[in-house]
Amino acid sequence: MGLPSKAQCFEINFEIEKRRIQLRMKEVLLVNDIFYSIQGESSFAGSRCIFIRLAGCNVKCEWCDTTYAYNEGCELTIGDILIKVGAWDCDLVEVTGGEPLLQEHSIQLMEELVAKGYRVLLETSGTESIMNVPQKVVIIMDIKCPSSGAVDKNKEDNIALLKSNDEIKFVIADRNDYEWAKEKVRSLREGGCTNVILFSPVRDCMNSNELALWILEDNLPVRLQLQLHKLAGMK
Ligand code: SF4
Repeated sequence: MGLPSKAQCFEINFEIEKRRIQLRMKEVLLVNDIFYSIQGESSFAGSRCIFIRLAGCNVKCEWCDTTYAYNEGCELTIGDILIKVGAWDCDLVEVTGGEPLLQEHSIQLMEELVAKGYRVLLETSGTESIMNVPQKVVIIMDIKCPSSGAVDKNKEDNIALLKSNDEIKFVIADRNDYEWAKEKVRSLREGGCTNVILFSPVRDCMNSNELALWILEDNLPVRLQLQLHKLAGMK
């Protein structure tokens, strides 16, 4: 039997790829919610966005506002998720949590979203490695401040893995958090970090006007971020 022709090789590769995609579409994730709203955070704030909230988080921040996503969810295949997402006429999708990277197949989900032409954002706590996140995904990564109770979970190696268009977020609950974050920002900037850095006040805990004044007093190269979706009464 001779070697397959170029056309036969193409056909075989095509079939293998088709099978690989079929299998991947059957991978299951635990999904807390899929919904359409206004993006309230990051440089994309104000844009229409589809949110895929994956269940599960092991960080347990003191002031977490999505505790309902720790365990509650239903099992959906990647194929099911893509069908649900496709119901809205919107090309911006955020994968969030919980902590999305705790679920192994979140990487495949993002790859499939990118392959379908979506602009994909990933909101992550920064406590899991971002190494395998597809390059086309914009990462919005937390650095946990002391009041979260999770500083020891920050994964410092992640900072070197950020792309220039990724963003870093500090959630600030008090002056102590602010001073801690300020030092981090100084050291990041001195180390050549040019990423957008967001300072977000903890709702019902940190006064946003006070935080704004601190940023101005210190000429800190960060952006104040308010949760626009909540101000607009959205989910
Ligand atoms: S990382 Fe996010 S989801 Fe997890 S506990 Fe902290 S705020 Fe909540």
